[in-house]
Amino acid sequence: MRLIDTHTHLDFPHFKKDRAEVLRRAEKAGVQYIVNVGSNLRSSIDSIELSKQYQHIYATVGIHPHDAKDLDQGVLEKLAELVKEKKVVAVGEIGLDYHYEHSPRDIQREAFRKQLQLALAVDLPVVIHSREAEQDTLRILREAGSSNLRGIMHCFSGSLAMAKNCLALGFFLAFGGVITFNNAVELRNVVKTVPLERILIETDCPYLTPHPHRGKRNEPAYVKLVAEQIALIKGITLEEVAAITSENAGKLYRI
Ligand SMILES: [Zn+2]
Repeated sequence: MRLIDTHTHLDFPHFKKDRAEVLRRAEKAGVQYIVNVGSNLRSSIDSIELSKQYQHIYATVGIHPHDAKDLDQGVLEKLAELVKEKKVVAVGEIGLDYHYEHSPRDIQREAFRKQLQLALAVDLPVVIHSREAEQDTLRILREAGSSNLRGIMHCFSGSLAMAKNCLALGFFLAFGGVITFNNAVELRNVVKTVPLERILIETDCPYLTPHPHRGKRNEPAYVKLVAEQIALIKGITLEEVAAITSENAGKLYRI
């Protein structure tokens, strides 16, 4: 069995002391590949560093909506250089976060649009972060308006209607630890509806730790708990979930 954790932040200080051990546990749990996601210029560069250090780690580069205010022309040019690195498999995470609003909304939208254009220019998929901004996210994705735009709705926790809209755009939905939470009844319903061929699994570690480890630091080994939950919801085996979600991730990220 092989699993792909399609969204991690292993460059974060949470893993500074024991990253090697964390990676060993991931391997033991069957995690074959890991995609480490950039969220600002620093973490984008650090993600690429990790991908150079470890054969099975890939990287994405992008500016998170929280940091959208930092995306000036210089940063955009730097990103345009970084996307050319060999193991960069996507632009992300990019998108809109109207919950925290660490950057003003109009600036978030502008940064989102510019990075969608960057992804299209180099034919890379996008990793989308969308929180309390469903309508604007959809609108901007549609306006980007190219059938070449491919991507992932990361940590999907939206409504069934939103799921259907994202599927119609050709996007994959990535599910994480949240689907294991007791109160996630509606989200499990969404999982039931989405075809397995369009599902990816992720941890978003160190965040969103699945049950029964909730409250502790998350790590890639726990992506297996997400896969198990999907198997349970869909009434299929863990091996099937592992095989198909890995195939999906391989196709989208081209790894
Ligand atoms: Zn993330």
